[in-house]
Formats: sequence, structure tokens, C-alpha cells
Amino acid sequence: MAPTRRDFLKLSTAGGVAASILGFDLAPAYAEMRALKIARASETRSTCPYCSVSCGVIIYTQGDGAKNVTPFVVHVEGDPDHPINRGTLCPKGSSLQQDILNERRLLKPQVRRPGSDRWDDIAWDDAINEIGRWVKKSRDATFVEKDAQGHTVNRCEGIAWTGGCTDTNEFNYLVVKTMRSMGLCYIENQARV
Ligand code: SF4
Repeated sequence: MAPTRRDFLKLSTAGGVAASILGFDLAPAYAEMRALKIARASETRSTCPYCSVSCGVIIYTQGDGAKNVTPFVVHVEGDPDHPINRGTLCPKGSSLQQDILNERRLLKPQVRRPGSDRWDDIAWDDAINEIGRWVKKSRDATFVEKDAQGHTVNRCEGIAWTGGCTDTNEFNYLVVKTMRSMGLCYIENQARV
């Protein structure tokens, strides 16, 4: 009969107890296992995208940067130098590697046309041009120069913007400047939620 998960845990615990009774310190062995896993990996500091807490993470990637090598994420952990989480991650953030390596992860923009029942891939240049066209069309159609009392308001009520917790301060500064310059009132960010 194949060993169950419970059998495995019993054996592991028994092994650990036996090791400590015999005077072995397993800590260096565990540390070595971890070191081997991320040996020669490059470190990238990033932000967990799942919630507004915005915990800092370190993403470890294998691959020497050569053109014929596809970089591969081997490990993600909390960033001990990050002021928000000091190296800790909740269970959701701890599973971030599965999000990065997920086969359903979108790697290119998609568009769902009016009346369509599916999303289609679109080139980045086409997506940006199309967004520009729709922004202009929506702004022209919904711009309000004066309110019902005749006050000059110059606002665009037909477009909204929402950002995410991974957006940097610099990015958000540019977003607010750009959106306000077009008269947008509805500007929000997930990190405020
Ligand atoms: S690790 Fe957890 S608490 Fe931190 S940002 Fe991600 S989801 Fe939020």
C-alpha cells in the first residue's frame, strides 16, 4: 500500500526527533537546501499585487540572461528590508510564484468587441491607439463645461481611472496629473480600499 501523507508526516517527525536525540542539528542542512534552491538566481524586488497592504517581495529568477535562455522564476519570498511587511507574507502572498507561473496568466492585451462572446488578442501598438481613440471619443461626448447652476466645472464624467497597489508614487503622480488635465473626477486606487 502506498504511504499516505499522514505516514510521511509521522516519519518526518520521527526522523527529526531521532536526529535531535542523537545530537544532530538539522538547521544547517535546511539552510543549505534553501541556499541551493536560489543559488545563482537573480533577485528582483517587487510588490505583492493581491491586496492594498502592498507587501514587498523578492522574486528569484534562474537564467544567465543569454538570448537563448528563458528566465524562470524559482522562488518568491517576503522582502526582509521592506518597511511594510519586514519579510513576512500572508498565505496568499506566499503563493505568488503560482500566479507568476500560471499558464492562464495573460501576457498580452486583449479586447472584447461589442456583441462578442470572447476576448481576442491585440498588439500593444493597436491597443494603445485604440485606447487613445476611445478616450477622446468618450471625453468629447461627456465633457461638462457648466453645471446646472451655470458654474464653470470643466469636468469629464464619462471616464474613470483606477490604479493598483503595485503602482509607484511616481507613476501615480503622472496618472493624477494626466487624468486631472483631462477633467476626470472619478480617480481611485486599490491601495486606498
Ligand atoms: S502578502 Fe498578503 S497582506 Fe501582503 S500584499 Fe500580498 S495579499 Fe496583501
